[in-house]
Amino acid sequence: MRLVLVGPPGAGKGTQATVLSEKLGVPHISTGDLFRAHISNQTELGREVQEYLDSGELVPDAVTNEMVRERLSQPDAVDGFLLDGFPRNVAQAGVLGEILAQNEHKIDNVLEFRIDEDIVVERLLARGRTDDKEDVIRHRQQLYRSETAPLLDYYGAIVVSIDAVGDVHEIGERALRALRAEQ
Ligand code: ADP
Repeated sequence: MRLVLVGPPGAGKGTQATVLSEKLGVPHISTGDLFRAHISNQTELGREVQEYLDSGELVPDAVTNEMVRERLSQPDAVDGFLLDGFPRNVAQAGVLGEILAQNEHKIDNVLEFRIDEDIVVERLLARGRTDDKEDVIRHRQQLYRSETAPLLDYYGAIVVSIDAVGDVHEIGERALRALRAEQ
C-alpha cells in the first residue's frame, strides 16, 4: 500500500505512522525525521536545512524532493510506504506523482487527521521539541492551512478522513477501519 498522511503539526501523524507501518507492513518515511537525522549527524544537508526547521519554514522543494526521491528508490519502499510529512504542498505532490509514475505506481490513499488547532498547539507545547515554541508552532499551523490543506482537494476521492481526537489506540483502530473500508 502507498499511503500519504496529512494533518496539522501535532495531530499525531508520527505516532500513528509507527503503528500503521507495522500493521500494514510498509516502511514509515517521515521527512521531518529524515531532516532531523541529517541535522544530528551534521551532514551537509543537515547544515543546509537547520534554519528552516528552527523557524518552521518549509525546506525548499528542490532539496526535499531529491531526498524523498532517493529514499523511495531504496528496496524496502518499492512495494509500498507510508509517507508522513510529504508532500506538504501541491508542487511536491506533483513531483511525487511523477516519481511513482516512472514505475507505473500511484498513491492508493491519503489519510487525513482531523483535529482542532487549539488542541494541537497545547500538545506541541507539551512535547517541547526545539521547534515547538509557540510562535514557530503558530507559523507551522499557518503553513499547514495555506500550503498543505489544499492537498485534500488535489487528491480528492482517495482522501480518507478520521477524527484524530482521542486515545492513541482508538485512533489507530479508526485509521485501519477507514482504510480497510476503501480496499
Ligand atoms: P510537524 O508535523 O510537527 O511540523 P515534521 O517533523 O513533519 O513536524 O516537520 C518538521 C519540519 O521539517 C517542518 O517544519 C519543515 O521545516 C521540515 N519539513 C518536513 N517535511 C517537509 C516537506 N515535505 N517540505 C518542506 N519542509 C519539510
